[in-house]
Amino acid sequence: MKVEAYPCQLLLANPWKIASSKGSGTHNVVIAKLTDASGLSGLGECPPSSLYGETVAGVLEFCTRLDTSRLSFSDIAGSMNYLESLPGIPFAAKCLLNIALLDGAAKHAGKPIYDFLGLGFRENQHVTSFSIGIDTPEIVARKVVDAAAYPVIKLKVGDPRDKENFAALRSVAPEKPVRVDANEGWKTKEHALQMLEWLVATDGKIQFVEQPMPRTTSVADLVWLKARSPLPLYADESCHTVKDIPHCAECYHGVNVKLVKTGGISMAFDTLQAARKAGLKTMIGCMIETSILISAAAHLAELADHLDIDGNLLTTNDPFLGATAEKGIISFASAKEKTGLRVSPKG
Ligand SMILES: [Mg+2]
Repeated sequence: MKVEAYPCQLLLANPWKIASSKGSGTHNVVIAKLTDASGLSGLGECPPSSLYGETVAGVLEFCTRLDTSRLSFSDIAGSMNYLESLPGIPFAAKCLLNIALLDGAAKHAGKPIYDFLGLGFRENQHVTSFSIGIDTPEIVARKVVDAAAYPVIKLKVGDPRDKENFAALRSVAPEKPVRVDANEGWKTKEHALQMLEWLVATDGKIQFVEQPMPRTTSVADLVWLKARSPLPLYADESCHTVKDIPHCAECYHGVNVKLVKTGGISMAFDTLQAARKAGLKTMIGCMIETSILISAAAHLAELADHLDIDGNLLTTNDPFLGATAEKGIISFASAKEKTGLRVSPKG
């Protein structure tokens, strides 16, 4: 197998700030193309996260250390076992290569990944939220107006301006369903509960709140908050892989599963299934990504109660075409590629 991995800098329509990271106008991802001896190829992507100690250089360096003869589109499990056996594999690299392997495997089978996995995909049924980062109330209001076509908004909080920013959102979108994501930004259980009670007292259209407190919060404090919260609480930074599901079932009502956290499509599939079995609501999320990773997530839509896969919509130079999200509705109808990820390079 030939492995080509390269960095890709994405330009953002607006600087992106959340509670756990500063605003920036660009975001770096790694793209990989695997090509087998027959010329069949698969595409993968990962956004290495500094939050988890990952870098673009680290992922690229990891790719140079691979024995590429151990990767095969006809043996996903064997290929992943080989990757897992390598010391210090970044989760981002696992995600990058797992997606490329599945793209190739499903193309070889002549099926889209959602059929290759036996899930199917219902057109016009899956809606993604559109995320609004932390900003001044004036800019939050402008961004919400710009996102008028999207039926659900996700507002990032965990900032001293939370109440002003929420009021700014409501000044221009009084009726829209809203998800709130604190990205670990409420540091004590008392402050988190106060904010949750303020949100329900102020507004009747909030669906749930993501990661109110730091992932290092004690189980006792998380259980305390879950017992009192007037809104469903979803784990994001607290939920990486299938191993975290028992903890999340104890401390949260739902989980936000992201391919870069689980290490790709195969492991996200397992994590979503385990979450449902444990009685948790499921959501599929994303980082700032191209259409490769967004489409990869969309193939798992049938395992999710909610989608938040808008990372490519926040960029201005996505080099790929795949699943689309017009008016927030996820669709593969216009994808030129009919098999695998259903992603192709633009132009
Ligand atoms: Mg989140």
